[in-house]
Amino acid sequence: MAMTLGFGLIRTKLTKFQPRFVRNFSTSNYLLKKKDDDYVEVQPPERIHPMERVKNIVKNDFKQMFDPEAPPLDDFSTHVDIAIIGGGVMGSAIAYFLKERIPRAGLKVLVIEKDPSYSKSSTVLSAGGVRTQFSLKENVEMSLFGAEFLRNAPKHLAVEDSPGPDMHFHPQGYLYIASEAGAEQLHKNQILQTSLGAKVELLSPTKLKERFPWINTDDIALATHGIQHEGWFDPWSLLYGFKRKAMALDVEYVQAEVVGFEFRSRTDLTISTLEEGEPYEGIDKILIKTTKGELKTVKFAFAIVAAGHESGKIAEMARIGRGEQLLSVPLPVEPRKRYVYHYHAPDKDGPGLNCPMVIDHTGAYFRREGLANYFICGQSPPNDEEPETETLDVDYSFFDNVLWPNIANRCPAFNNVKIKSAWAGYYDYNYFDQNAIIGGHPFYYNLYFACGFSGHGIQQAPAVGRAIAEMILDGEFRNIDLSRFAWDRLIVGRKVVEKNIL
Ligand SMILES: Cc1cc2nc3c(=O)[nH]c(=O)nc-3n(C[C@H](O)[C@H](O)[C@H](O)COP(=O)(O)OP(=O)(O)OC[C@H]3O[C@@H](n4cnc5c(N)ncnc54)[C@H](O)[C@@H]3O)c2cc1C
Repeated sequence: MAMTLGFGLIRTKLTKFQPRFVRNFSTSNYLLKKKDDDYVEVQPPERIHPMERVKNIVKNDFKQMFDPEAPPLDDFSTHVDIAIIGGGVMGSAIAYFLKERIPRAGLKVLVIEKDPSYSKSSTVLSAGGVRTQFSLKENVEMSLFGAEFLRNAPKHLAVEDSPGPDMHFHPQGYLYIASEAGAEQLHKNQILQTSLGAKVELLSPTKLKERFPWINTDDIALATHGIQHEGWFDPWSLLYGFKRKAMALDVEYVQAEVVGFEFRSRTDLTISTLEEGEPYEGIDKILIKTTKGELKTVKFAFAIVAAGHESGKIAEMARIGRGEQLLSVPLPVEPRKRYVYHYHAPDKDGPGLNCPMVIDHTGAYFRREGLANYFICGQSPPNDEEPETETLDVDYSFFDNVLWPNIANRCPAFNNVKIKSAWAGYYDYNYFDQNAIIGGHPFYYNLYFACGFSGHGIQQAPAVGRAIAEMILDGEFRNIDLSRFAWDRLIVGRKVVEKNIL
């Protein structure tokens, strides 16, 4: 299926680049630092003459050769075809799909990741669920591909003779439960899902009780149950698999923090939203801070922002949301804290090994975690009661006051449970319409985004990685048309709403 680029409408109408022959190389540096909740410009790194730089590199090499005590050099490419900001599941999936198409020296890809332990990355704090039960076509299609990719991950992510990691996939379906109020929408969703190839059955309350006798069906009008392509898996394994394979295909990873961008005034390009004669100020380089505290630059042909819940901050560094016209609209992605509680339910009348991922109409969810009556559960808080995001501390009163009453109502065996542990992670939350933002920015021809997944990004990583590779290498989506998820909608204020958000 050949579709136009995601940013089609705005990009073609508003941003017509007209190449001219005179190039102006005047450069403006722009390094941002957070101060009192705002970004302020700080002194950019000193610009060094190229010959001076070569001299320094040679000097360093010699120092390294003769002084074994010398600190290691920052050994990474500073001129690349594609720079990916963020090496979580999304950045690593994109790197893999790009290099899988053009391996070895054909395409130089650098992933910039500030924390290789991934201690606050959404990827490793995720519940690892994959479901086809969405209300938007694109989301269903992405998950169908995600499930297919996971099934064949040992093959896709094999490195030489060593198969890709075991994904620890549990093929239990999701069970969506609707009250009278949500039954019609649930049915509509199921019709769409099955028309796209998902295997989702409808269950009346009586059928539901027969299948899962531990469920209280009193306030249930309808349920849908995924019988294929759904379940949960180990997010670490997927991240590790993508990263290992990407590195085997010569993708470089550097541990460094992106702290700003360098801009370059260009008179060889113009854009229709600028005044006559006003220069186009494009992004030229990424500014990074290495582990030694040094500031370096990375020059790129295309950069992709895949920085999860921190993508909004990166966009601000690129003046997005801080300028005029196309730059006046911010990237609506911010961290939202979500808790996951791990508990034991000793009641022998509770769910057994065939327990699905239950999504209650209150928004509460639970599923089995391992064997021996262990479960996990969670729920998003109401919009006006979002918890603080400074720390990843867990609020146990949320379980007691909100979550537990909901799961105990749905499954009376949960009246008696014991919390074993809990964790919190950040959703990469798109506060505009809770859906992915995929594709090029309408002002910057060389800056792409893959973020805003709002709690359903793990399962979409394979599809998004493939889609971004298609946009960059083919200039269009080849498999799943994701053009509705482009930047355009943010600029014209047109939401693409997913009804099944957890
Ligand atoms: C509790 C919880 C449960 C979830 N459950 C599910 C689920 O069941 N199913 C599902 O599909 N999804 C789920 N998700 C969502 C999913 O985890 C995310 O959508 C997905 O992991 C996003 O991946 P990412 O690579 O974009 O972000 P991340 O994993 O956060 O990776 C972004 C990376 O960018 C790096 N970075 C950020 N800023 C900079 C910078 N300035 N310089 C350099 N590097 C930087 C970070 O260190 C990070 O490693 C859940 C999320 C949470 C929190």
